[in-house]
Amino acid sequence: MTGDRWADWQWFRTELLAWYAQHGRDLPWRRTHDPYAILVSEFMLQQTQVVTVIAHYQKWLKQLPTIQTCAQAQPQDIFKLWEGLGYYRRATYLHQTCQIIVREYGGKIPQALDTLITLPGIGRTTAGGILSHAFNLPTPILDGNVQRVLSRLFALTTPPHRNQKQLWHYSQRLLDPVAPGRFNQALMDVGAGVCLPKDPQCGRCPWQNGCMSTQTQQQHDLPVREPGKEIPHRTIGVGVIWNAQGQVLIDQRPSTGLLANLWEFPGGKVEAGESVPDCIRREIYEELGLEIQVGEHLITVNHRYTHLRVTLVVHHCFYRSGIPELRGCQAYAWVELPDLCRYPFPQANQKIIQALQESPIPPYPLEMGGGRVQSK
Ligand code: SF4
Repeated sequence: MTGDRWADWQWFRTELLAWYAQHGRDLPWRRTHDPYAILVSEFMLQQTQVVTVIAHYQKWLKQLPTIQTCAQAQPQDIFKLWEGLGYYRRATYLHQTCQIIVREYGGKIPQALDTLITLPGIGRTTAGGILSHAFNLPTPILDGNVQRVLSRLFALTTPPHRNQKQLWHYSQRLLDPVAPGRFNQALMDVGAGVCLPKDPQCGRCPWQNGCMSTQTQQQHDLPVREPGKEIPHRTIGVGVIWNAQGQVLIDQRPSTGLLANLWEFPGGKVEAGESVPDCIRREIYEELGLEIQVGEHLITVNHRYTHLRVTLVVHHCFYRSGIPELRGCQAYAWVELPDLCRYPFPQANQKIIQALQESPIPPYPLEMGGGRVQSK
């Protein structure tokens, strides 16, 4: 492209939209212009792959078909619907955003970018996606995929996180003013299926003849990455505590912080020099004030959050004595295995539930004198 000529920008738009008409993905949220449905899809797509989002999106809209039903839902139901998507803070933000829109905007999603980005969980990209898709407004987007496409298309040699201003400029400049909604969807499809991180498929790309990095054979070297920081790792000892009635103990995390309000099997970080069984015993006492016996290993689960990697080492445990206290949690429950599905759990705990369902219930140790739970 030479200079900032209208004809050049128009060429990119025309090529992309023609390609999209033939190759665009048929996704459920692309068959609607309901702003609420599009809002839900944009929240779900923030950090989760399309293939995972589809089923959750359909289930969500079946149970909460309007912004009013979402606003009135109980947090527990919201978390349950979100289960499997990860990054649960998005569910809380979506719920809060719907409540604000119902309360302060008469249930209508604001069409001003400046207003929309003040709502919980809505950044400039999410707002751009909602406004362009639902209202056909010329608002650009810039998620990770789009940053990669633009960095290659214009051969930008500054790492994207240090080049946001220029990237937003290109995203805005490229955007088709007549069909911004379709243009942004098409741009996302190029990022997701053509301009792939490790293996850009330039031969299938509508922009191959205008792409600056292919002309200089730089497409595999862009975008430039700076060496990332090492993500810390923690080993967590987790106890599935059985009582003599064949129930297991779960507790609800505090209402703030990572995985707020979700339910989990109790446990905590293994300290230096501590064995996993010792850790589980200590954590259960500190968190709930219970004495337990640690039994067989059940499963080890590796999980990665954005900023943290964890290894959950899970053991069967048996209740000995004590009345659960809410020291490090906001609620607890003794639950039969089939009833675990009524509680929202973090993704990493789903593998523990699956392992429990696939393995026999361990016999309660006879020497523990019955193990009946004390009540207050
Ligand atoms: S031509 Fe290749 S590098 Fe350029 S945008 Fe298309 S897929 Fe990406």
